Amino acid sequence: MDIFKALEEYDYEQLIFMNDKETGLKAITCIHDTTLGPGLGGTRYWTYEKEEEAILDAMRLAKGMTYKNAASGLPIGGAKTVILKDPDKEVNKEAMFRAFGRFVEGLNGRYITAADVGTTEIEMDYIYQETNYVAGTGLKPGTSGNPSPSTAHGVYVGMKAAAKKAFGSSSLEGKRILIEGVGKVGYILAEKAIAEGAHVIAADLFEEPRKRARALGCQIVASDDLFSVQADIYAPCALGATVNDDSLEKIKAAGIKVIAGAANNQLEEARHGDKLEEMGLIYAPDYIINSGGVIQVADEFNGGYNEARARMSIDRVYDQIEKVFAIAERDGIPSYKAADILAEERIAAVRGTRSIFSQHTKSILNR
Ligand code: NAD
Repeated sequence: MDIFKALEEYDYEQLIFMNDKETGLKAITCIHDTTLGPGLGGTRYWTYEKEEEAILDAMRLAKGMTYKNAASGLPIGGAKTVILKDPDKEVNKEAMFRAFGRFVEGLNGRYITAADVGTTEIEMDYIYQETNYVAGTGLKPGTSGNPSPSTAHGVYVGMKAAAKKAFGSSSLEGKRILIEGVGKVGYILAEKAIAEGAHVIAADLFEEPRKRARALGCQIVASDDLFSVQADIYAPCALGATVNDDSLEKIKAAGIKVIAGAANNQLEEARHGDKLEEMGLIYAPDYIINSGGVIQVADEFNGGYNEARARMSIDRVYDQIEKVFAIAERDGIPSYKAADILAEERIAAVRGTRSIFSQHTKSILNR
């Protein structure tokens, strides 16, 4: 793999390899862009067949974080770590993640880590023994805890912005909302929508979440027959890639006008976003509408988490989704492309200010 060529192609700043023989740590941190602030992105602990796959995953995910953080209006750049998991080796996790924490400390605030696939609060607690540049640890004073309620709130306000665009009113009262996956995020979203007078139809693979949703007042539909009901809004809150060749026609036939949910990578391919546009559906781009969790995490760095302040920032997901629709209209492009433009325009504008000399760059880390 031609690493510098790959870094240059998408303007990556830094790719860091960390190795510790004692603990077996093999970590790759990719810092994509720090124009807006320190690079923030979780640590994935995962098994890869080839090292190259791990590098590419770290790079792809770091770039995704740049766009997410920028489009969400955060003073934060994009980064990500993958730690290579050897399925045949027993490791001492405390030692391994503390070793990683020491490397993170060495980056002196260019990178802030958090939990991701394969890591939890426990690993973040280990990292916190060695560095303050970690979010989502239960031990740190001013920690913010479970991000799901914040994610759900962001999806809720983002859904209202999309409803305004589609129906002329942001009210969800009387709207039929189909929520796929009533887990940590979907359940709270259902609660909020019902409280506003929406009729929520929920699907889940498992009986326990279905039971909870039913008790909340949701109508339940089988998850393999999701679009057999008529609905106004579809909220994918389970897995990604549910907007695909197979589902598009069914979504249309179900009368759905808006797609607004928490899942990552909702479009199986970019062309499905083009198709939604052609079909006249309003799509709230996934990485903006589900940014409530990262907004919550970022708030920890403003001298400790403050729920009311974080909630105010998460309320702005509504404005960010409106900005996306405005850019889409201005440029005559689908909303998923407009989301990228929103991020790129913000980074370019702030990068321009770097020509002005300043002795002390104030960042979220030294407020
Ligand atoms: P979760 O695991 O708590 O809930 C997902 C629910 O979906 C589960 O109840 C599961 O049984 C159900 N499910 C899985 N496959 C399904 C299917 N095919 N049909 C119907 N139901 C199905 O996860 P979560 O934390 O609520 O996250 C939901 C989605 O939002 C995920 O894609 C996640 O990546 C994304 N997301 C979550 C957060 C967060 O803060 N939790 C932040 C950003 C993005």
